[in-house]
Amino acid sequence: MRSQFQCWLRILCLACLGLLPSQATATLSIVTSLPEYEALAKEIVGWCSPLCAESDEITITSLGRGTEDLHFVNPKPSYIRILNNADVLIQNGAGVDEGWLPPLIAASRNPKLVLSFDSPTRIMAAQFVDMLQLPSTQIDRSMGDIHLLGHPHFHLSPTNAILIAKGLTEKFCFLQPDSCSRFTRNLNTFEKRIEKKLPIWQKQMKPLRNVNVIEYHQTFAYLAKSFGLGLVGDELEPKPGIPPSAAHIRKLIPRMNAMDVKLLLIEPFHERKTPTFIAQQTKAKVVIIPSTIGGVPGTDDYISLIDTIVSRLVLAYASH
Ligand SMILES: [Zn+2]
Repeated sequence: MRSQFQCWLRILCLACLGLLPSQATATLSIVTSLPEYEALAKEIVGWCSPLCAESDEITITSLGRGTEDLHFVNPKPSYIRILNNADVLIQNGAGVDEGWLPPLIAASRNPKLVLSFDSPTRIMAAQFVDMLQLPSTQIDRSMGDIHLLGHPHFHLSPTNAILIAKGLTEKFCFLQPDSCSRFTRNLNTFEKRIEKKLPIWQKQMKPLRNVNVIEYHQTFAYLAKSFGLGLVGDELEPKPGIPPSAAHIRKLIPRMNAMDVKLLLIEPFHERKTPTFIAQQTKAKVVIIPSTIGGVPGTDDYISLIDTIVSRLVLAYASH
């Protein structure tokens, strides 16, 4: 009874503040910081094309692009206008977008986004998953590490994608109750599609089980855990967000040779000079792996992203 009363009180407060979309117009402008949440939101809303009649009343826009380093998105003035018109903002949290997003939110002066993080109009994806590498000690930003709050690239686990989609569906149902049955139906379809693909991806990745690979940035831990990839503990970056130094690379090369590292995973936006040099000094083959939607051609939604990652890894290892 008490929780129901609190729920209605919350809805009433949000309605007073104008934070719930008008039922008369039934429009919802969803803005996401990262492309993976744009893709997951589209799965739930059922967005299929600009002409898709069923979801014309909902728009979904990502600020970050898959071809850029999403820790360091270059803010554009148009992003302030997009945020100003947003009904909902979905962000990653856990250190990926906190460096560039808050000033844009402040400049947008949109009261729906300036609320506390548990507001239904400002959604943190990190709340829906169990994060890896959570800090065990007091964090200190002077260390220069951009993963201080734990490993933030959790969307690369297909199981986490389902958890995030479930969390988003709950929020969307709260914001637009009239469309809740449609959101739930689309969520179920997405979940079934992932569950159908999982054993296929597992089978494709079987040759890479426990094969040692290294990455440029600390990106693929959730993917490695999902498919048994032998991700070594070191990266080309000495710490997440810190560019490779000559001293670090000098120490890394003998360690890679000792561990018989087969693949060196880089993302499309990384510089190629350092990985190419390392590949010449070791047995590791450089492979470009997209970490999000739109990172390379053919990664238009979540399933095609994982399809692309898996096929690129399998092909690179087979031709090693
Ligand atoms: Zn990162």
